[in-house]
Amino acid sequence: MIERLPTPWGLVRLGVAPDHPKLKTVSRAYERIAVKPGFRFLGNVEVGRDLTHADLERLYDAVIYAVGAQTDRRLGIPGEDLRGSWSATEFVAWYNGHPDFQDVSFDLNVDRAVVIGNGNVALDVARMLALTPEELAPTDTTEPAIEAIGASTVREILVVGRRGPAQASWTTQELKEMGELAGADVVVDPAELELDAVSEAALEHDTNARRNMDVLREFAGREPAGKPVTVRFLFFRSPVALHGDDRVDAIELVHNRLEEQGGRLVAVPTDERETIECQLVFRSVGYHGVPLPELPFDDRRGTIRNEGGRVIADGGAPLAGVYCAGWIKRGPTGIIGTNKKDATETASLLLEDIREGRLRHREDVSAEAVDALLAERDARAVLYHGWTAIDELERAAGDKLGRPRVKLRTWDELLDAAERVAEKTV
Ligand code: NAP
Repeated sequence: MIERLPTPWGLVRLGVAPDHPKLKTVSRAYERIAVKPGFRFLGNVEVGRDLTHADLERLYDAVIYAVGAQTDRRLGIPGEDLRGSWSATEFVAWYNGHPDFQDVSFDLNVDRAVVIGNGNVALDVARMLALTPEELAPTDTTEPAIEAIGASTVREILVVGRRGPAQASWTTQELKEMGELAGADVVVDPAELELDAVSEAALEHDTNARRNMDVLREFAGREPAGKPVTVRFLFFRSPVALHGDDRVDAIELVHNRLEEQGGRLVAVPTDERETIECQLVFRSVGYHGVPLPELPFDDRRGTIRNEGGRVIADGGAPLAGVYCAGWIKRGPTGIIGTNKKDATETASLLLEDIREGRLRHREDVSAEAVDALLAERDARAVLYHGWTAIDELERAAGDKLGRPRVKLRTWDELLDAAERVAEKTV
């Protein structure tokens, strides 16, 4: 398993919200795989920098790309790059301790934040912003993020969806949690929950949407308890501009109506607009995959071109021994379980190709050949025991504070911790 970062488990470590520790326990399954004979972890090795696809094809019988969707989608509106306007990715990566995002500084000493999007990431961002120091304390949120969020002066968080409540893509459990926050009241205007006939009819076949509507109606019936923060859901509105001189001071929204187009209800702008003062904007409108050198790519979907996980060459035939799984195969949707099923499909095709003799096996290629090439290129690979050293250090620091771990956050800290153990074992 080759990984650009010194740490494994991708979004489980650096994407899943820190106040969702149960979701992170999937890493135990990965740990069981990692100690099996034949598994090797090569962290801090970047494909495209330290190794090329051609190297991998030469050094391995098969290659599976599971690199996720690495950029966020843009809104394409004026003011998007003003100070105070962030992608959800940046905020999530920061509070989770991604080493590339530790120099960013979020000014949370403001009154109102707006989160654009109606997916689970938008809920993660809104919820993390609203957590109290007591709620943050038992999580593995980084220390600077605990400090900044704990000291935040944000009083209102608006979660804005371009379509209606019945079209939101969040899952019901995540939505329910918004109503269980210690320091925040949740507010929904009942008028925004009135559905058009098509949305109402669609609920019959969509259990998730039906349950979401039940939760939202329950929210709408609540009297605010006077908690310090209010999380307010707004629907049928799209951002058209962010205003401000050097930083965001307002967001302009256009009201939408729903229209059926090609079997899908889409948001169509009306003439009605409103401008809301705000000092922070988080754009949480989905991700997009990034093309990999030497691999066929579908630009529109942001995925490696594939059939069930077999990478498909320009002529339409499978590229022997090259596969993909997860968001770079399917696009940035689905929860952990969806990706598990997806990976199983790819692995089954790979096994079928082995059985059918479609993979080329070279006896002379070994793990030592990989190590030699990495050494020749001055790559400082972090092996699995390097990662377990990081893991142990973090857990020990967490133990002292009654937290699951205190994350090492910078490249230097992570590489030093991994290399200290490497020196001891040499
Ligand atoms: P998502 O579910 O695809 O949500 C993206 C949201 O952005 C949608 O509401 C979409 O609206 C909206 N959007 C897109 N373009 C827009 C625009 N130009 N203007 C306004 N709104 C726009 O994606 P996500 O929230 O990034 O999550 C990615 C995946 O990770 C999802 O499958 C999610 O369930 C999963 N995830 C799961 C958890 C969990 O299980 N706890 C946590 C985080 C993420 P439309 O529907 O109108 O396109």
